[in-house]
Amino acid sequence: MPVDPLPVLQSTFGFPGFRGVQADVVHRVLAGENTLAVMPTGAGKSLCYQLPSVALEGTCVVVSPLIALMHDQLRAASAIGIRAATLTSVDIDQMETIKRFRRGELDLLYVAPERASGGAFRDLLSQAKLALFAIDEAHCVSEWGHDFRPDYRLLRPLLDHFPDVPRLALTATADEHTRADILDQLGIPREGMIVAGFDRPNIQYRISPKDNTTRQITDLIAETPGAGIVYVQSRAGTEKMAEALAKTGRPTRAYHAGLDPHVRARNQADFVASEDMVICATVAFGMGIDKPDVRFVAHAGLPKSIEAYYQETGRAGRDGDPAVAHMFWGAEDFAKARQRIGEVEPARQAGERTRLTALGALVETPGCRRRILLKHFGDDAPENCGNCDNCLNPPAAIDATEVARKFLSAVFRTGQSFGIGYIEQVLTGVSSERSLMNGHEALGVFGIAPSAEEQALIKPVARALLLRDALRANDFGGLEFGPGARAILKENETVSLIVPPKRERRTRGRGSSAGTAANPTGDPLFEALRARRRTLAAEASVPPYVIFH
Ligand code: ADP
Ligand code: MG
Ligand code: ZN
Repeated sequence: MPVDPLPVLQSTFGFPGFRGVQADVVHRVLAGENTLAVMPTGAGKSLCYQLPSVALEGTCVVVSPLIALMHDQLRAASAIGIRAATLTSVDIDQMETIKRFRRGELDLLYVAPERASGGAFRDLLSQAKLALFAIDEAHCVSEWGHDFRPDYRLLRPLLDHFPDVPRLALTATADEHTRADILDQLGIPREGMIVAGFDRPNIQYRISPKDNTTRQITDLIAETPGAGIVYVQSRAGTEKMAEALAKTGRPTRAYHAGLDPHVRARNQADFVASEDMVICATVAFGMGIDKPDVRFVAHAGLPKSIEAYYQETGRAGRDGDPAVAHMFWGAEDFAKARQRIGEVEPARQAGERTRLTALGALVETPGCRRRILLKHFGDDAPENCGNCDNCLNPPAAIDATEVARKFLSAVFRTGQSFGIGYIEQVLTGVSSERSLMNGHEALGVFGIAPSAEEQALIKPVARALLLRDALRANDFGGLEFGPGARAILKENETVSLIVPPKRERRTRGRGSSAGTAANPTGDPLFEALRARRRTLAAEASVPPYVIFH
């Protein structure tokens, strides 16, 4: 006869009731069944094993990937009277913990995966009664997941050694492929998967091309009150960003794994306590941090995957009040990501590529962002959510399929070895010594884009094709076909460009006009062009068009 969880929920945790799917998950666990709980960040996954750890006889072993995360959890659990301990390399009282475990005095025992997979740990676990195995951040077990940890793969023999102890895997972020893999890897039956709704209706999603991220984020925090997280890709970048944003008068801190541990802990504590601080951090920041009133999260660059984006943006607005998630991305982020994919082991490349394509669809869409996110996680979603940039302010679109086809044809006919500028000359029919010498003026593609309208689209189309991997630049700047070319030439795939709606600009002129001196009209197009010229010196200047499917 399973235990009734409600009295424990109220007396130990002080909550009047379960939230969402918590009740289903807890009931399965108490009934001794194996379960995978897929619940968004902030949905209350910890309770799903903490409550059974109190209600059931024996210890719940929690596998968790980060020591910092474990210690946060330990503190929170101890604060409400749960008998918890961690077994990590930094714990000096390991003998004491082991004794307490043997005497059956622990509700929760947190352990890192590399420790859990060893034989010594298995022997230890045989010496007392176990209530449950909880595997937190379970997507780490899957190579399809965005955060694969090989040690998670070694957990299975341990779990199988204790066939009567139920397993509960928990994750916030798993696409269908990853979920299936987790079930497989951890020996959980298909019907044991419980998926909570993924929508976070109070988060407004906004995604735009970057021109100058420091300026874009400076503008953003000037109009966004409350505490916020700015995710920056490099450690040095977090410090630079924090310094730049501090000039707005807002309290700022940096956070990354390279900081002195004391400084890092203090910066985190300052942020948690503050109502208006902006913390500039690498993605190492945020796991397990309980700050419900984060009002915005901004990505200064492309996140690693949709899963990572969802998890990182999910740290905003946990209190249910309105919050905003911003992302600023560049075509060069995609180029870099593709390069990185080329360097990972071949077996993982296909998965990584699929992930990048999904991310491309999210940033390029002229439609609802939330719909793409929710569909990605297998949730139903309306066409229009009414609370993302595209729903609030639909972008204008131009069909550039014809120009894209002409561009690809010209690349092909000239032998896949010339750069954007030369292909443009060929298409517009500009005669040069080079085109004469190469005999390209006799080709059918010479001068096939005569109208000014088409000509204006040539460079944006070229960038769009690069972004979509229909074209690749070789080491000498020459363009070659990529895997995406075929569909556009042969399969009626369309290429549309979206013109981002003009951003509303605050009227300047009250002394805060940093960087606008050379741009008297404050025209965002002008600014974008100027930034492009600076950062992409190799390429000709291009209007801030982006592409969608
Ligand atoms: P997750 O691990 O899913 O991101 P946490 O376990 O950290 O989420 O919980 C997020 C917050 O929700 C915590 O502050 C927790 O105390 C709170 N919480 C969890 N369950 C409930 C509940 N049933 N009622 C109210 N608050 C809850
Ligand atoms: Mg958690
Ligand atoms: Zn929307």
